[in-house]
Amino acid sequence: MSEWQSPIAPGISWYQATVGERPTYPAMDGSKVADVAIVGGGFTGLQAAFHLARRGVSVVLLEGARLGDGASGRNGGQMGTGQRAWPEELEQKIGFERSKALFDMAEQAKRYLLDFASEHQIDMDYTPGQMNVAHKPGYERDYRANAEIAAKRYGYPHLSFMDREETAERTGSRHYYCGVRDTGTGHIHPLKLLVGLARAAQSAGAHIHEMTKVTAIRRGDGKTLLDTARGTVSADRVLIATNGYIEKLEPVTAGHIMPIGSFIAATEPLDGHPSVLPGGEAVADSRFVVRYFRKSRDNRLLFGGREVYSSSSPEDTANFIRRQIIETYPALKDIRITHAWGGYVGITMPRQPFVREVMPGVTSIGGYSGHGVMLSNFSGKLYADRLTGTANALGDLEALDVPSFPGGANLRKPLLFLALTWYALRDRV
Ligand SMILES: Cc1cc2nc3c(=O)[nH]c(=O)nc-3n(C[C@H](O)[C@H](O)[C@H](O)COP(=O)(O)OP(=O)(O)OC[C@H]3O[C@@H](n4cnc5c(N)ncnc54)[C@H](O)[C@@H]3O)c2cc1C
Repeated sequence: MSEWQSPIAPGISWYQATVGERPTYPAMDGSKVADVAIVGGGFTGLQAAFHLARRGVSVVLLEGARLGDGASGRNGGQMGTGQRAWPEELEQKIGFERSKALFDMAEQAKRYLLDFASEHQIDMDYTPGQMNVAHKPGYERDYRANAEIAAKRYGYPHLSFMDREETAERTGSRHYYCGVRDTGTGHIHPLKLLVGLARAAQSAGAHIHEMTKVTAIRRGDGKTLLDTARGTVSADRVLIATNGYIEKLEPVTAGHIMPIGSFIAATEPLDGHPSVLPGGEAVADSRFVVRYFRKSRDNRLLFGGREVYSSSSPEDTANFIRRQIIETYPALKDIRITHAWGGYVGITMPRQPFVREVMPGVTSIGGYSGHGVMLSNFSGKLYADRLTGTANALGDLEALDVPSFPGGANLRKPLLFLALTWYALRDRV
């Protein structure tokens, strides 16, 4: 199974090649009844399934491909800190108190994820350290302020400003002008986490079905009905956890969450290049079309980026990413690329998570905008907390009241393509 090709995203990932055993789950065969039905088997859906099942709620989870074939099993693995936007940016929009509450929630999400992995003995290759770096001059003041504000106003003392020299030393590249180093977070092998999480959800009693695509969501007999080619699930509550893979299943979600392709390449092990990321941190840069990279546990460079908004072949991806690697690390000009793959990030207009009741009893959660490794896991848990009446922290995300893309589900793609192409051009000047 190390050659498994996701039917919904291009390329076989290095994660797939190194995850070890990846159990399969049977397709649904015949109709079912459940308290809660979940559409989508990534981090959001599986965490919700785990927590609900553990609390005695009957749960059916339907995944159209295999668990993790969407973004969750194929991403850059960077946990980050806070929300996608820096807290000082969020503060401008929603005020200090709410910004602080969202920052604190992200810290809880981080802690939760590490504790979850430890409790379930999931070795997800956690490696500490992350750096945000500036690809243009003129950001020094903002980056310095970012570290200071985090410490003074957000109670987060783990950020430190790096000048150009330190940035060059810690990245092993002279491509960047300055940066902020975060010693309070890290990066993981996302598919190892996904596989462990799926096991935990099944052991807790969740009924999980792969290769079972939901083709329609409708109301009937006071329940919500999920149609598939092999039967219907009837449930009191439904969670839509399809993120960037929603397609046309449900129009409100599709109008708010836009899929954007993101692509990663893995090199052969970097023997003979000890100056590349000597401290093992992950890096994300300041481009609008972010470049993100880190070393794997077996010393490869996993480099993500690329600025083309339609999917294409793994060979194409490898060639594009190779150019970006060489721009950053000229000494790697002869390095071999062994794996190249992509996936869809679900983004929203303000780059904030989308949480909404889209039909009676049907909640949609996603749109983490490239910052979902911690937040999707935690949001799945928060959904279960809300349903079982233990807490309603999900309300803080819901209150963000994310607007839809102009043009709704049909026109949003061409409009966004134009906007993103413009921003990608701006990254170059
Ligand atoms: C290349 C890439 C790099 C990324 N890097 C980072 C990173 O470094 N840090 C970070 O924080 N975030 C990153 N992200 C984002 C992060 O991976 C996501 O935010 C997170 O995994 C979302 O999880 P999810 O469960 O909501 O969605 P997904 O994991 O995308 O899962 C959605 C699932 O729904 C299923 N589905 C869709 N429609 C149906 C249907 N009709 N019936 C049944 N099933 C259906 C899909 O098959 C899919 O498995 C990256 C994403 C990508 C693609």
